[in-house]
Amino acid sequence: LSRNAGEPEFHQAVREVLESLGRVVAKHPDYADDALIERICEPERQIIFRVPWVDDRGRVQINRGFRVQFNSALGPYKGGIRFHPSVNLGIIKFLGFEQTFKNALTGMPIGGGKGGSDFNPRGRSDGEIMRFCQSFMTELHRHVGEHTDVPAGDIGVGGREVGYMFGQYKRLTNRYEAGVLTGKGLTYGGSQARREATGYGAVYFVESMLATRKQKIDGRRAAVSGSGNVAIYTIEKLQQLGARIVACSDSNGYIYDERGIDLGLLKEVKEVRRARISDYAELKGGPVRYIEGGSIWDVPCEIAMPSATQNELTGKDAMTLVKNGVVAVGEGANMPCTPEAVRAFQAAGVLYAPGKAANAGGVATSALEMQQNASRDSWTFEQTEARLAAIMRGIHDRCAQTAESYGAPGDYVLGANIAGFVRVAESMRALGVI
Ligand code: NDP
Repeated sequence: LSRNAGEPEFHQAVREVLESLGRVVAKHPDYADDALIERICEPERQIIFRVPWVDDRGRVQINRGFRVQFNSALGPYKGGIRFHPSVNLGIIKFLGFEQTFKNALTGMPIGGGKGGSDFNPRGRSDGEIMRFCQSFMTELHRHVGEHTDVPAGDIGVGGREVGYMFGQYKRLTNRYEAGVLTGKGLTYGGSQARREATGYGAVYFVESMLATRKQKIDGRRAAVSGSGNVAIYTIEKLQQLGARIVACSDSNGYIYDERGIDLGLLKEVKEVRRARISDYAELKGGPVRYIEGGSIWDVPCEIAMPSATQNELTGKDAMTLVKNGVVAVGEGANMPCTPEAVRAFQAAGVLYAPGKAANAGGVATSALEMQQNASRDSWTFEQTEARLAAIMRGIHDRCAQTAESYGAPGDYVLGANIAGFVRVAESMRALGVI
């Protein structure tokens, strides 16, 4: 703990994985001999840098940039970049740690990493965003590359920001190295279905969990927190499969509409106007309600998909959801449920999918983008979505089978942690003490 002081989210993420590993060590005592667990918890490299930029009023601003290259036993470091004022080293370390296991679960050749900055994009002009991204990449370009480290988007970083970073990388290196970043636009090496992948993938995972109890998504009421990339495409796929999404949110409040969210309007507000969900409520009118500051988890639903940020769903929220009859919880965000919430869901027999399994569809499709870039090819939307669906079913089955073989059927937390750990650990062992 003292070695990683002041990093509560990192401690939380590590503790959760270590709690699952007791059964693995009991079966394979040799893992303890190689200090494999200690090595897996230590990032291979951490880079912290100054990001100076000039705002629209001509004033110099300074932010802090991070890239944590956590584990490259399975392939180049891979993981998103987050721009949010809450970003600090501990947050990026927790995300990089989770990413290592998530990437292993996909079965694809990608290591784990994460990056970001405490830059707050809210209210910034397009020119300010561009200058910030260019300055960020001016340092980051020394540390990334198609075979080294391949960043993507995360909170506050979408197609626009990836485009500006890719442009600056190309300019600095004089190389059109499409495989250096994923989540790119379709005109310059991006993949079909990448934008949709995390949300769609999380819904496929929930569909597979429900199928183990012979249940379906069709006809269910759902609540999806957040209203960013993951939330929007979670809502889209849930609607396609027949669910009614009655609520979504942002960091100021949530909207509730018994008729179901109007996805076309939500996309217009969030993706085109870059506005807030309070604007959605105003534009939609009628019985839609905007509740400022309230908890979206007070809304009765059978499917809950937290898709905003870490620790957004507390033990108390979980009790409310259970009381209101929730049957499945799928984490679109990373670590959105607190440990108390996870315990409450599991104690109540609710199907619960941890983020490192349920939201792996985004990074898996990023790996498909890397494949397309390496072969100078591009696949159709249908082809790519079919690959995503198969990958998500594979992750679900791997977690379920692992949980069962370790004597905890239905425990997706245990299944995901053990299956991810064993793949990374086996590779690390094969590569020697590194
Ligand atoms: P976006 O920036 O597109 O959207 C984030 C959403 O979450 C916004 O609606 C934002 O509201 C809300 N939010 C952020 N912080 C808070 C907070 N402190 N309290 C309440 N709401 C908050 O990000 P993404 O959709 O890409 O990411 C969402 C989550 O999914 C993150 O945990 C991310 O790590 C995870 N994830 C993303 C992947 C991807 O492919 N993009 C892949 C795997 C996981 P506001 O506008 O008010 O800030």
